[in-house]
Amino acid sequence: MSFVFEPPAVASVPVADRAERFPVHRIYCVGRNYVDHALEMGGTGREPPFFFMKPADAVLAAAPGETAVMPYPSLTNNLHHEIELVVAIGKGGKDIAAAEAASHIFGFAVGLDMTRRDLQNEMKKQGRPWSIGKGFDHSAPIGAITQAARVPDIADAGIGLQVNGQDRQRSSISKMIWNIFETIEQLSKAWTLQAGDLIFTGTPEGVAAVTRGDVLIGHIDGLQPLQVRVE
Ligand code: MN
Repeated sequence: MSFVFEPPAVASVPVADRAERFPVHRIYCVGRNYVDHALEMGGTGREPPFFFMKPADAVLAAAPGETAVMPYPSLTNNLHHEIELVVAIGKGGKDIAAAEAASHIFGFAVGLDMTRRDLQNEMKKQGRPWSIGKGFDHSAPIGAITQAARVPDIADAGIGLQVNGQDRQRSSISKMIWNIFETIEQLSKAWTLQAGDLIFTGTPEGVAAVTRGDVLIGHIDGLQPLQVRVE
C-alpha cells in the first residue's frame, strides 16, 4: 500500500522492563468515577458511568526515571491536573462481561487527564462537546505500563499526586464508583475495544490548577511513578 504522504508514527507508551512499547489505538476516559470528585464537580456522586475520548497522539509518555515536559496549552488560564489509573487493553472485544474483563487487560499505568477547566466549564454551560477542554495536544501524560500479573493488588492501591512536593490528591483505587471490570463492561457495550486502547478511569477529589514551572509527581502503589514538568 502507498500513501499520499508518510503516515504519522504510531503513538506509544513504554512498558516497564520490556524493550517493546505499547502501541496506542484509542484513549477512552471515564467521567466522575470517585464520589468526592463527583461532588466537587457539582454532581450527585452516584451516576452511571459516562465516557469521553482524547486522540491517541495526545499521549505524552515518560519512561521510568524520565520527566515528561508538557507545554502549557493555548487558550486556557485554568489548566487542571487529574491523577488517574490507566488500564491498557491487550485483547479486544465487545460486550465484555465484568467477570471476563481481567483477561482483556495488558497492564496498568499512572496517567494525568490534563484539563483546560475554564474551557470545559464553558462548553458544559453551553451544552457543547468537551473536546477543546479535554482532547488537546499533550493532554494525556502517562508513565510506563506495568503488566497486570505484577500488580495483583491494584483494586486496593493508593493513588496520589504531588505538585512541587505538596500533596494535592490522595485516595484509593477502592473508592471508584465503577471498578475497572465494570468500566470495561460498560465501555465495551458502546465501542468494540481493541488491543492498544487506554482507559483513563477517573480522578479522585482534589483537582486544581498548575502553572508553568510546576513539577507533578503521580503515583499508584505497585506502578511506575509519573513525573511531569509544565513549561
Ligand atoms: Mn478525568
